[in-house]
Amino acid sequence: MYKSIIVGTGPAGLTAAIYLARANLNPLIIEGPQPGGQLTTTTEVENFPGFPDGIMGPELMDNMRKQAERFGAEFRTGWVNSVDTSSRPFKLQVEGLGELVTETLIISTGATAKYLGIPGEQDNVGRGVSTCATCDGFFFRGKEIIVVGGGDSALEEAGFLTRFASKVTLVHRRDELRASKIMQDRVRANEKVEWALNRTPLEVVAGENGVTGLKVRNNATGEEELIEASGVFVAIGHHPNTGFLGGQITTDENGYIVVNPGTSETNVEGIFACGDVQDTRYRQAITAAGSGCMAAMDAEKYIESLEHPAAVL
Ligand SMILES: Cc1cc2nc3c(=O)[nH]c(=O)nc-3n(C[C@H](O)[C@H](O)[C@H](O)COP(=O)(O)OP(=O)(O)OC[C@H]3O[C@@H](n4cnc5c(N)ncnc54)[C@H](O)[C@@H]3O)c2cc1C
Repeated sequence: MYKSIIVGTGPAGLTAAIYLARANLNPLIIEGPQPGGQLTTTTEVENFPGFPDGIMGPELMDNMRKQAERFGAEFRTGWVNSVDTSSRPFKLQVEGLGELVTETLIISTGATAKYLGIPGEQDNVGRGVSTCATCDGFFFRGKEIIVVGGGDSALEEAGFLTRFASKVTLVHRRDELRASKIMQDRVRANEKVEWALNRTPLEVVAGENGVTGLKVRNNATGEEELIEASGVFVAIGHHPNTGFLGGQITTDENGYIVVNPGTSETNVEGIFACGDVQDTRYRQAITAAGSGCMAAMDAEKYIESLEHPAAVL
């Protein structure tokens, strides 16, 4: 039996691993389908403190992992299929590892950005296609950008991106937007935003140096159009990776884990959540890391509070 198992090896899980390993609690970390998490899919990370010249995403994650290993964290390759929280210790069914038993569980399985699923999109992630304006907006200074989506976050991203871009075109497949009226009014007042409503994205067009535009269908005329731009920001939402919890941990209507405010505690004592899987607002590497630290400290306290902490086998 383990005192603590951490599910996920993004910045949240690895930070929790560093803290728990340094507290001598020998955590087991299950890597899941994407060792190192989302940052392994990007190139340069310029906003993680401590790297004045930036750092490549995969290198940053490799460093975090090495730091956790240095203090005795154990990593294993596997994919958690289900968790049984009905009795203690908690039982996990892990693809590739079988059943694992733990006193505390830290869930840091992240959230996956939704994509459009059109040709040219995946080939150009990091070459002009992005799902994170805060992360990548800075790379598009003085350029033309497209934002796809019609909700509040799409409009928020469009507004934010006008700080860098010479023009932002908002593409949405319907005539009407889902975003709140106040958000729509704010963006409509922004002279840098152009509207391409009632347009269905068909293909991301790219050349040798990355994205050059987005091919769309004008739903009113049925005609295909090309909107030229150097960047396509897809802002159609995220999918938190919480399916394996089978509804035993309280989530919001979109599947994000609900934690007690200002903590990492879930509705089940001894189970903690950190990173994007519980974050509908910031979704940054540094906030994920910060909440990973919180989860480790909360788990440590919980283990201390148990009368007879289980020995690590
Ligand atoms: C292309 C891109 C560029 C980005 N650039 C930046 C940037 O420049 N700066 C910045 O601050 N942020 C950036 N972000 C956002 C940042 O990557 C995330 O906020 C951060 O990675 C979230 O960390 P996390 O630990 O919560 O989860 P993630 O990084 O999503 O990691 C989730 C982990 O959970 C594991 N997992 C999932 N399901 C299971 C399961 N069932 N069983 C076991 N393991 C599982 C996965 O294998 C993975 O290891 C970027 C994101 C993307 C996609």
